[in-house]
Amino acid sequence: MYIKDTIAAISTAIGEGGIGIIRVSGPESIQIVNNIFKSIKAKDLADVDSYSAHYGHIVDTSGQVIDEVITLVMKSPKTYTTEDIVEINCHGGMVALRKVLDLILQQGARLADPGEFTKRAFLNGRIDLAQAEAIIDLIRSQTETGLKVAVNQLEGGLSNKVKDIRQDLIKLLAHLEATIDFPEDEIEEFNSEELDGRIDGIIERVEGLLKTSQRGKILKEGIETAIIGRPNVGKSSLLNSLVREKRAIVTEVPGTTRDIIEEVINIDGIPVKIIDTAGIRETEDVVERIGVEKSEEFLNRADLVLLVLDGHQGITSEDQKLMEAIKDKDGVIIVNKLDLDSKLDFNKIEDILPGRPIVKTAAIENKGIDKLENVISTLVLDGEVKNEDQTLITNMRHKNALDRAHQTLLDVKNTFKMNLPNDFITIDLRAALEAVGEITGDTIGEDIIDQIFADFCLGK
Ligand code: GDP
Ligand code: ZN
Repeated sequence: MYIKDTIAAISTAIGEGGIGIIRVSGPESIQIVNNIFKSIKAKDLADVDSYSAHYGHIVDTSGQVIDEVITLVMKSPKTYTTEDIVEINCHGGMVALRKVLDLILQQGARLADPGEFTKRAFLNGRIDLAQAEAIIDLIRSQTETGLKVAVNQLEGGLSNKVKDIRQDLIKLLAHLEATIDFPEDEIEEFNSEELDGRIDGIIERVEGLLKTSQRGKILKEGIETAIIGRPNVGKSSLLNSLVREKRAIVTEVPGTTRDIIEEVINIDGIPVKIIDTAGIRETEDVVERIGVEKSEEFLNRADLVLLVLDGHQGITSEDQKLMEAIKDKDGVIIVNKLDLDSKLDFNKIEDILPGRPIVKTAAIENKGIDKLENVISTLVLDGEVKNEDQTLITNMRHKNALDRAHQTLLDVKNTFKMNLPNDFITIDLRAALEAVGEITGDTIGEDIIDQIFADFCLGK
């Protein structure tokens, strides 16, 4: 249980905008806004219909007009938090928004914690924990595919699968416990094959979900990619042609000495993040200035390396060093400048990096870029079939819970083989049930719940 006070926050992004929205949720929300909202029609917001909008002004205690606004009144229980909610659509300036928020706080509302609106939606039972987590994934998704996966999770795709698994575990437990509690009754005991088969069925579904976690992690977080190669082989040109058609988003990443720009390219829904793009894109590259040794630093960070060679030249000792350096990395060799006659000995590549995918490109003519994208996608997703089912495990917390459930279920099978009493089996089955229930939040501690919502943005 939590104290049902009234909370408020600015729910739109900080900065200059066309509108800015303040959200107020809780039993006093309508009354509080009533106190500072003056409508020409002098409406009492307590009497208006749910989901109705009202034009008017926010006025401070001295009668000074702060902003011209539209208020949207949403009444319990069909709201985001299930509580009464008023959203005030202000003009987007920060000063006005802060001032309106201050007035609301003066009227007795409390400033909401990050994620507190969504947390209330969860605590009030409108959504489960996996759905709540999907909301933040949805906001932060970097590609359309990532967005689809988040929406699927929000709509209950994952929750339903988890619920099915829990149901089966509960049925199994109920049956086993009945045979323990009432041994003299004629409760049909599962024969060993039947019990084993049932547990296998559950394990199979847990494994099915676990199998999606690699792909889920990649789609959500993207892969850090480094483009390396000696000067003038065509790194900048290659990046430019990738970015030209595939740019997803550009984000500022705070660096230690300066802010670096991280370019995110969307390849088959995979957010491919190019490390230190700013450096590569400038005419005087960082890579060019810092040379081979420093390239190794980029390599340590990268999940994927694109090594560019100049097809119009032979392989130099510097090229060889770079090839040696990526031996333990996932990577693609790009032989660029294929529009010019080839002078490169491909056997040398094969000697140093046997079996490594090689793609020929002419970056300045945009040739070979599609092929490169295919190779990257195949390499990253490890030849996984793209199933249409958009339920993917994208969250480490969910994966850990499933891993524990999986291990416990394997233990059950062992216990069973050793012919130990049913009590031993039910203890493990209970543990599996709890682990799976953590995903939807059915079985989880308050501290973990707090931690999850603390990661949300303010006003969400
Ligand atoms: P970087 O130093 O590795 O970033 O290489 P750049 O992208 O700056 O390219 C170096 C030079 O090679 C420039 O003059 C480019 O126009 C040229 N270049 C890049 N890609 C190709 C290509 O595919 N074919 C040809 N003929 N020239 C290229
Ligand atoms: Zn360059």
